[in-house]
Amino acid sequence: MTIDYNKLKVRINLDNLRHNYQTFKGLCDRVIPVIKSDAYGHGLAEVSRALESEDMDTFGVGFVHEAVKLRRFGCTKRILALLGPVDDGDIQALWEHDLLAVISHMAQLRQVAEVAEKNGPLNICLKFDTGMRRLGFRSEDIPEVVAVLKQSKLTPVMASSHLASADVPEHEANVEAQAAIFQEMLDLLKEAGYDVEANLANSAGSLAFELCRMDSLRLGIAMYGGNPFHGTQREELGRELKPAMEVSAPVLQVHSLKKGESISYGWTYTAESDLEVAIIGVGYADNFSRSMSNVGQMNIKGYRVPIRGRVCMQMTAVDVTELMGEGLGVVPGDEAFLLGGPGPGTITPEDLAGWWGTISYEVFCLLGMNQREYI
Ligand SMILES: *Cc1c(COP(=O)(O)O)cnc(C)c1O
Repeated sequence: MTIDYNKLKVRINLDNLRHNYQTFKGLCDRVIPVIKSDAYGHGLAEVSRALESEDMDTFGVGFVHEAVKLRRFGCTKRILALLGPVDDGDIQALWEHDLLAVISHMAQLRQVAEVAEKNGPLNICLKFDTGMRRLGFRSEDIPEVVAVLKQSKLTPVMASSHLASADVPEHEANVEAQAAIFQEMLDLLKEAGYDVEANLANSAGSLAFELCRMDSLRLGIAMYGGNPFHGTQREELGRELKPAMEVSAPVLQVHSLKKGESISYGWTYTAESDLEVAIIGVGYADNFSRSMSNVGQMNIKGYRVPIRGRVCMQMTAVDVTELMGEGLGVVPGDEAFLLGGPGPGTITPEDLAGWWGTISYEVFCLLGMNQREYI
């Protein structure tokens, strides 16, 4: 699964990750680290182990087989599978590996209830759709959900819902509306005799909305040091967060580019004056997006160096004229940072995502597939 044909180095700072986790402990008693998709590219096994010592009791993953994998690593905490069981194997795994899964629609609920007749009692998490319109029961489903539950060996111990736009300050009213709908659903469950753990907020919802914190939080991007409010008026809420991932690639060659000469495929960049360029050993085959051609920047020795011409499969050219002018030599073997790096030129996840045309989540997931080391 790891990309192993390149020279990229992905360094994960587990202290920063733990620091970010702790900044949320003051907001809610139970903070559930979301470590789906290989912990957003930071490594399922390593991240779970780093957090297990942090006064926590539940992990969140996506698919049931991610939860099984986590169990196989020896994790004994409660594990919540946010995407719920998809097939018969997933359903059996809930008993076999003692997993808590989200149940989000009627056919799934009936199927799990049927298997419970044979396998015995099972705790579940009911997923409610309060506006995201992906997964979950709606208010009008609750009487039928309760009827099925009452006849079954299933016990709902948690109710969960997902906020669609907690990271958009202008959507404050939508978040409040979702929270209000969720509260009504919780009340209906309570009337039916189910007093469950209420679980609503993601990173953005936790930071900005006290009413969304409820009994437990699902903490994803902010734990990895991504600021969900980057570029908004709420940006300050994420100022304590420290990115946990840093990525570098080696300089392969350094040479000059004369005024009027063009570089890389399609000659999309032409030097307007004499330049020094460094060829970096990273390209789109390493999950470094070609959309950064002529747009992105890297960090060498604390300086920002702009990408010139097209990003290739395994190479990208950057302009190092400014560094050379400062008397700082750049030689083959030097490190060019795609993410992080020293000094004032440090590249934040949001900087990189901006050039890439995406969000920090995708940057982490994709670059994290390269070979990682832990500090
Ligand atoms: C991924 C995910 C989260 C975490 O969201 P962040 O924005 O990364 O904090 C929370 N809940 C669900 C259902 C998710 O899929």
